[in-house]
Amino acid sequence: MNLQTLRPLPKADMPPPPTVESDTANAPVLVRFEQVHKTYDERSWVVDDLHLDIRQGEFLSLLGPSGSGKTTTLMMLAGFDAPDRGRILMDGNDISKLPAYKRDMGVVFQSYALFPHMSVAQNVAFPLNLRKVSAAESRSRVQEALALARLEGFEDRRPGQLSGGQQQRVALARALVYRPRILLMDEPLGALDKALREHMQLELKAIHKQLGITFVYVTHDQDEAMTLSDRVAVFNEGKIAQIDRPETLYSRPATRFVANFLGETNLLEGTLVSRSGSQAQIRLEESGTLHEAHCSDEHLAVGDGAALAIRPENLRLAAPGEPAISAFVIDSIFHGAHCKLRLRMDRGTELAMTYNPGSLGRAAPLPGEKVALALPSSQAMILR
Ligand code: ADP
Ligand code: MG
Repeated sequence: MNLQTLRPLPKADMPPPPTVESDTANAPVLVRFEQVHKTYDERSWVVDDLHLDIRQGEFLSLLGPSGSGKTTTLMMLAGFDAPDRGRILMDGNDISKLPAYKRDMGVVFQSYALFPHMSVAQNVAFPLNLRKVSAAESRSRVQEALALARLEGFEDRRPGQLSGGQQQRVALARALVYRPRILLMDEPLGALDKALREHMQLELKAIHKQLGITFVYVTHDQDEAMTLSDRVAVFNEGKIAQIDRPETLYSRPATRFVANFLGETNLLEGTLVSRSGSQAQIRLEESGTLHEAHCSDEHLAVGDGAALAIRPENLRLAAPGEPAISAFVIDSIFHGAHCKLRLRMDRGTELAMTYNPGSLGRAAPLPGEKVALALPSSQAMILR
């Protein structure tokens, strides 16, 4: 992150870095970020050597904690901000310096940014007026956009007479009214309550399918990103930690950060003792036991410190004689559809295990009880 320690910019003809491809992402590349850097204070990069291919027609989410550079990335794509290094290509052409209004992108922000003195119809027509579209054409496009956002009948209201959800629909209609090639959204549902947010997620997904245009969606909510997206780019400190389909990110996280950011993960520290291709063996520090699991990190070598990662739903009580680690139950929590055990190993590592009530084949373990846990190899991962 420190500018002094940055590598020099690679030559422009260098091949793009390897990325994990999802098998559904065969569409042509619409937008490419090439070695994009952004700093606000000349001391640290808030977007740090970003490489990103956005494919035609995909629903891509930029997911990450607050301050990880998602909005800055979106603003550079929209043309409201410019990279300090690197470039952004659209259809292979450099658009880094192209003004926002020439980019053919619609933008929706969390704050609706509507004009309070204008009616819904006037708000939605605004981008068309800027582009000098004829009155007749404008009327029909506004109707089309209002229908898409399910706002028919609200034409004459003012934003102040609408609920938050309805105002966000107006912002959405306004962003779609000139039929942009890309719709950019920055936490657009962040101000809505949970039920409305989930409802709007389904509608956004339907609109994406109906229009077939590219959506780029910023969120810090992992459930939202997983629900909506064809692919998710997980941001951490101005870089993409991993980009892939939601299922792959969840089942094959590349780093501890991704494993923890998308759902809960148990991490058991240890040392790598052997590896062969993408399978490896780790000896756990706490229990001294050996475990084999998938390891996709090519940089991890025998002797390195590593962690065995396993989701709470993949831990289970071991059968008699099965290789296992032992832990004490600290707490047993009933959640309705599932139950959760909080466990602690002898030297303090805490674990979580979830299970369906009735599937244990025995009474639920009680706090204080010592249990043997199986770590199914096929569902565990070895991470750096
Ligand atoms: P995110 O959207 O992931 O929360 P941002 O892209 O908004 O992250 O911000 C990344 C970092 O850049 C943060 O540390 C933020 O404080 C800083 N930052 C963002 N915009 C500005 C700005 N206009 N001026 C100075 N610093 C900024
Ligand atoms: Mg943001």
